[in-house]
Amino acid sequence: MMIIMRTDATAREITAVVERVEGMGLRAHISTGEERTVIGAIGDGRPVYKDQFMLMSGVDRVLPISRPYKLASREFRPQNSTFPLNGVQVGGAGVVLIAGPCSVENRSQLLETAHAVREAGAHALRGGVFKPRTSPYSFQGLGEEGLELLVEARQQTGLPIVTEVMREEQIALMTRYVDVLQIGARNMQNYALLHAVGESQHPVLLKRGMSATVEELLMAAEYILSHGNRRVILCERGIRTFETSTRNTTDINAIPVLKEMTHLPVILDPSHSTGNWSYVTSVARAAVAAGADGLIVEVHVRPDEAMSDGGQSLKPERFAELVRQVGAIAEAVGRSLAKHSAPSDQSHAAH
Ligand code: PEP
Ligand code: MN
Repeated sequence: MMIIMRTDATAREITAVVERVEGMGLRAHISTGEERTVIGAIGDGRPVYKDQFMLMSGVDRVLPISRPYKLASREFRPQNSTFPLNGVQVGGAGVVLIAGPCSVENRSQLLETAHAVREAGAHALRGGVFKPRTSPYSFQGLGEEGLELLVEARQQTGLPIVTEVMREEQIALMTRYVDVLQIGARNMQNYALLHAVGESQHPVLLKRGMSATVEELLMAAEYILSHGNRRVILCERGIRTFETSTRNTTDINAIPVLKEMTHLPVILDPSHSTGNWSYVTSVARAAVAAGADGLIVEVHVRPDEAMSDGGQSLKPERFAELVRQVGAIAEAVGRSLAKHSAPSDQSHAAH
């Protein structure tokens, strides 16, 4: 249920509503808009009598949220959610570019790639250190040693770090090192992990499961939001279909559909959604044209030596070309690439 406050509601009236919501054993989630405050009363589905709130002072209207996801819905928050990531606004007018290797492999590979993507215009660095591999015999990632390398790359380039968390027990360690916790496609419905990243209050990049519907993706985001963690980015990364000419099928529709259904930022991963470097730039252009708030792209200095996903990784010069092209597309649809943070923001606090 959504309790929509009057535009002139006072802080005291808002507090009274929040206390009433909590007194009923429900959770109150406050969304402060430009004009008015909306209070989401979220509970276990038992009916709540709207008249109890209608009669309170400062309340304008009380509406049910008809969708199964509440806090993620545009009904709850009509304006886009945005948040700063090391000085770069995610979910705002500017398109945000996250780039880097599939896996952190060694110091020179990571640092060379990090400098190259920074040079080309990326806003954040990706790189997996705990890797969800289909085979237990494939490279599983460098673990904590890889986190230390990511931190060194951040110190040198100023780029915030995005990396995947696979287990709840890793969260405490990872939040000390990284800026954004990625939940991979294979873990999109790992509810214990979703609760735990929600509790961490750390920014989360949530990837769509390979057989998940858009609604299931939003329900997964709802787990994170239900802990009051609002810094969630949704990522379309291709779904399984009968088509075998590409690794996955890019669901380009998901971008405008999600933008309509939710206020959360939506980005696309053209690397995993195609599985082939030669299609990555085309699909990246399509994503920005379709309204994506950003891209996450795999880049490797020597793709032929990559320990994972070399075939879908762009060389740095090809990534630089992608940046130029998506910049032009962004301008054509009334956007631009996100502005970089001021140099003073770039020396990230030591961890
Ligand atoms: C990745 O980002 O390297 C990854 C494993 O992605 P996904 O979870 O989308 O397969
Ligand atoms: Mn990968």
